[in-house]
Amino acid sequence: MNTVSRKPRISTVTPIEPALEINNINAIDWKESADVVVVGWGAAGACAALEARAQGATVIVIDRFEGGGASALSGGVVYAGGGTPYQIQAGFLDSPEAMASYLKHEVNGVVSDQTLFQFCKDSVANLAWLESHGAKFAATMPDHKTSYPPEGKFLYYSGNEVVPACQTPEGPPAPRGHRTVAKGQSGKVLFEALQNATLKSGAHTVTQATVRRLVCERTTSDQVPRIVGVEVWQLPVGAPETLHHAELHKKVARWRTFWPGKAAECRREAAKIEQATAVRTYIRAHKGVILSTGGFIYNPELMGQFAPHAKKGWPVGGAGCDGSGMRLGQTVGANAEALNNISAWRFITPPSVWPQGIVINTQGERFCNEQVYGAKLGHELVDHQNGRGWLIIDSSLKWQAIRQCMFGGLWAFQSLPAMAMMLLGAQKADTPEALAIKLKADPLKLRQSLDAANAAARGESDDPFGKSKDMHHEMSRGPYLALDISIGNPTFPLATLTLGGLQVDENNGQVVHASGQAIEGLYAAGRTAMGLPSSRYVSGLSLADCVFSGRRAGRAVAAL
Ligand SMILES: Cc1cc2nc3c(=O)[nH]c(=O)nc-3n(C[C@H](O)[C@H](O)[C@H](O)COP(=O)(O)OP(=O)(O)OC[C@H]3O[C@@H](n4cnc5c(N)ncnc54)[C@H](O)[C@@H]3O)c2cc1C
Repeated sequence: MNTVSRKPRISTVTPIEPALEINNINAIDWKESADVVVVGWGAAGACAALEARAQGATVIVIDRFEGGGASALSGGVVYAGGGTPYQIQAGFLDSPEAMASYLKHEVNGVVSDQTLFQFCKDSVANLAWLESHGAKFAATMPDHKTSYPPEGKFLYYSGNEVVPACQTPEGPPAPRGHRTVAKGQSGKVLFEALQNATLKSGAHTVTQATVRRLVCERTTSDQVPRIVGVEVWQLPVGAPETLHHAELHKKVARWRTFWPGKAAECRREAAKIEQATAVRTYIRAHKGVILSTGGFIYNPELMGQFAPHAKKGWPVGGAGCDGSGMRLGQTVGANAEALNNISAWRFITPPSVWPQGIVINTQGERFCNEQVYGAKLGHELVDHQNGRGWLIIDSSLKWQAIRQCMFGGLWAFQSLPAMAMMLLGAQKADTPEALAIKLKADPLKLRQSLDAANAAARGESDDPFGKSKDMHHEMSRGPYLALDISIGNPTFPLATLTLGGLQVDENNGQVVHASGQAIEGLYAAGRTAMGLPSSRYVSGLSLADCVFSGRRAGRAVAAL
């Protein structure tokens, strides 16, 4: 008999406890207090803290690590329009109306039209507000459609703006993806600006400290409590384990892309330190608590429950994205929504010629316009095709794509997987029928899919999926290549991001109880809350929503 017992794996998910109910506020030994307590120091938390300070409130910001979250790992793209200085400089006209008209296709009613329009109306001012806190933007544009602009380029079409079906009656589409000016991935620089601004504003920060519990008072209505503070588990300041914890978090950021196993090991070691050494304290919020702890992509239980279809994806998020803010809200009866909405990023451009091919499902049927934004293609693939599909190209597209990968100034994360797919991982055949047999698809269906796309390319009919004319390419001669764009392909990882969160009152960000009543003293922002990207994400919409919803919550609590 095998007597070797395996050690249970440390969970990296913060244990959230039922809310602590008190009758007398003085019964707790509060370590410190402020008007506003912000839980989570990513973009949303920083914006909430800055706005609350600007309104004269005292603020404490708490973070499980040293701040940054997914925001600092991000591409630093902010979706902004309505006539930003950079749109104007690049020669584009835009208006809040045109922006709202386009975003209505993406937002799908997840926020009211009034909130959507307010977001668009505030957009120019919110970008300027970010600049006033040290972020920089610019008007230089790439010359090709891309998932992320190359070095030196900072303004681009970051969604589906140029897709014919998404064009709006207000005029030609305007680029709205504003990438923060920086070398490399810009999120780090954007967050550094917000981090420095938070510190300069006089907000007090409590780091390497995890909120595990809300403290509440019962109100006259027995059902909905009033939130008065939080229970925090903080690592001892300056202790060797605490310094090691900070090092581990830096390693997570370093290894997450190229050595995810190592990053996971560091996350577990950091969680072990938290469980062994953190000390419990209480922090009082005189006016309110703002939950801004990000999404829940690193919570296997929630992912299994709500998004099993996306489990094979490559999680994009900060190490703290375990849904703790949302779960804290749920301990006092808050409502969470859209938890099965996962943004699945299947970018097939660059290389910019790839969308001239066709995407097919396991049957051999074409299923989407290839030129759409990567999260739209990912949605069609993951939600409607069981996560499995192929991109079919011919040799001419292959060699053009290889040239783009080698000499087109692409990022390594764009060119290396594309090259590996074409040179090492492709299925190849001289006819569509032979290719279909290799893919275990229906030869007739693949032949029909290809014939229909070729007829559109020759101008004999409309493209069945509405692809614009400049993206048409006739593929009438083999050899053909099939590239595996399925969710589980390790050569071509498909990034996933959670979009759902706590239901909030869209006027002020106050968290809504399952009974429909707002919870006194509890607010949420960023990916902990329902917001503009909660239905479909386009690049930049999450950070832009962090600014919008963070400022909204900070302003509302400070004004109480
Ligand atoms: C690689 C990558 C690229 C991306 N690129 C873009 C982009 O260019 N544009 C865009 O709009 N979006 C982008 N996104 C998505 C975007 O970055 C996130 O959706 C957004 O930053 C979320 O911000 P947030 O403030 O809600 O949460 P986060 O930035 O994740 O911050 C949450 C913070 O809360 C802390 N925390 C968690 N739990 C607790 C707790 N219990 N107690 C205390 N603290 C806690 C965490 O440590 C963290 O610091 C990208 C994401 C990734 C990962």
